[in-house]
Amino acid sequence: MLEIKRLSAWYGQHKALDDVTLNVGRGEVVSVLGANGAGKSTLLKSVAGLMPVSVDSRIELNGLRLNDLSDFERVEAGIALVPEGRGVFGELTVRENLYLGAYPARARASEHDNLKRVLELFPRLHERLRQAVKTMSGGEQQMVAIGRALMSHPDILLLDEPSLGLSPLMVSELFKALQRVRQAGVTILMVEQNARRSLKLSDRAYLVEQGRIAGSGVAVDLLHDPSVQKAYLGG
Ligand code: ATP
Repeated sequence: MLEIKRLSAWYGQHKALDDVTLNVGRGEVVSVLGANGAGKSTLLKSVAGLMPVSVDSRIELNGLRLNDLSDFERVEAGIALVPEGRGVFGELTVRENLYLGAYPARARASEHDNLKRVLELFPRLHERLRQAVKTMSGGEQQMVAIGRALMSHPDILLLDEPSLGLSPLMVSELFKALQRVRQAGVTILMVEQNARRSLKLSDRAYLVEQGRIAGSGVAVDLLHDPSVQKAYLGG
């Protein structure tokens, strides 16, 4: 489904990604773990078309080369990014925010079915369709952000630190919701500081250190690997 080969990216002189190769299969949930500044957000931005990348890199979705497509064209191709900090519109209602996600041509015809599906995945949003998003908790706003991304009927959902800044209770609820998204067959590539929870949700994971892939494996194996526990799971 998503194939990334030889991806490098720079901020000025600073090389934030160095020769990254990774793939995500259809229906898989894949996590990217790494310390602050390792390059995780840059990786997602590169896939979403928000970052210039090395000319010899290849980013492909279902065999379609994305490198030369704009961010909007990548949404049409099936990419949906939920950025760190969510990017929801606080003054607008839940319903309005969700419908903003339905703008791509690929999603317009199935707008109502997509809304139904999103509300089944996030029943809490169903109760609050007319509520202004700014009056909701951080966890609820994150659900709006993920719901909005799902409204574009993506082939793959890119999640950047979805649990950042949420209370422990909200983190639990968010991961339960993500489990439902996973069970619905949505393919996910996610970056998460909560490594233990994200490994429990994932099929596989990649470890990123200073812009390079330092390891990868099946999530349950990584969860029980002592060196991974020490470096990424707080011992
Ligand atoms: P975090 O978990 O802290 O968000 P990250 O793994 O997502 O970290 P990135 O945000 O991808 O890391 O950043 C990778 C590197 O690139 C870091 O060294 C960071 O300081 C640098 N960087 C990120 N954004 C910019 C920018 N806009 N300008 C310059 N350098 C940047």
